[in-house]
Amino acid sequence: LTVAQNDFDFFYLVQQWPASYCDTKRSCCYPTTGKPAEDFSIHGLWPNRNDGSWPSNCDEGSSFDESEVSDLVKRMQQEWPSLACPSSDGVRFWSHEWEKHGTCSLLNEHQYFQTALDLKDKSNLLQVLKDAGIRPGKFYSLEKIKEAIQQGVGYTPFIECNVDQGGNRQLYQVYLCVDSSASDFIECPTFPHGRCGSEIEFPSFSSLHDEA
Ligand code: 5GP
Ligand code: 5GP
Ligand code: 5GP
Repeated sequence: LTVAQNDFDFFYLVQQWPASYCDTKRSCCYPTTGKPAEDFSIHGLWPNRNDGSWPSNCDEGSSFDESEVSDLVKRMQQEWPSLACPSSDGVRFWSHEWEKHGTCSLLNEHQYFQTALDLKDKSNLLQVLKDAGIRPGKFYSLEKIKEAIQQGVGYTPFIECNVDQGGNRQLYQVYLCVDSSASDFIECPTFPHGRCGSEIEFPSFSSLHDEA
């Protein structure tokens, strides 16, 4: 008899800032379902171990089935869009996240996507930053951004940066930790690695060049 066991200790809920995905050398493609709102969106909900390692692709037999999340697809299009090129409706990105990370989560497909969406809404990151006077279109200290999220969400985030076409370091992704049953945020047992620099840009999406 084999009993499913946790092969992980917690989750990272990873949210991306669309403008920072798009304003790099690689650029981006808007989803076929429309230009995303200027808001954080989900990258994934990733099982992780305390030592920094993580399981992946835990069930080769389980592929993403859109019919299992038909009640969530509208929300997924808005809150979990894919900005990779070529333009897509998101299914490829969702399939990738489900197969690589979701199959290790001990959640079923519907639970996995619903949980990530609900945790994203609960974190309310853009509002939390606005409440602290942090708005898209300017530079801020990394510490100020982290403190605002610590205050507003209640837990210390990890901020991942990338670099725009002008060479500025900018806020790319926000990592929050979630307990292993995916019920609430926790303090992170381990943080990822990577440098930001002390002053980073929080770029505006609306200032990007729009095609037609
Ligand atoms: P990158 O090399 O772009 O940082 O990450 C590539 C992919 O590896 C991510 O999309 C994600 O699937 C996975 N990954 C990167 N870092 C972590 C991590 O700290 N924890 C987990 N669970 N997955 C990660
Ligand atoms: P990861 O393996 O790092 O969890 O997921 C990254 C994979 O998803 C890459 O293959 C990337 O091209 C694809 N992808 C599709 N849409 C997006 C998006 O909007 N953001 C990110 N970060 N990756 C995306
Ligand atoms: P400490 O671990 O002492 O807080 O920070 C060590 C280094 O990591 C410092 O250079 C600090 O600026 C950087 N750092 C602190 N928090 C973050 C974060 O959330 N993201 C990134 N990328 N670097 C950070």
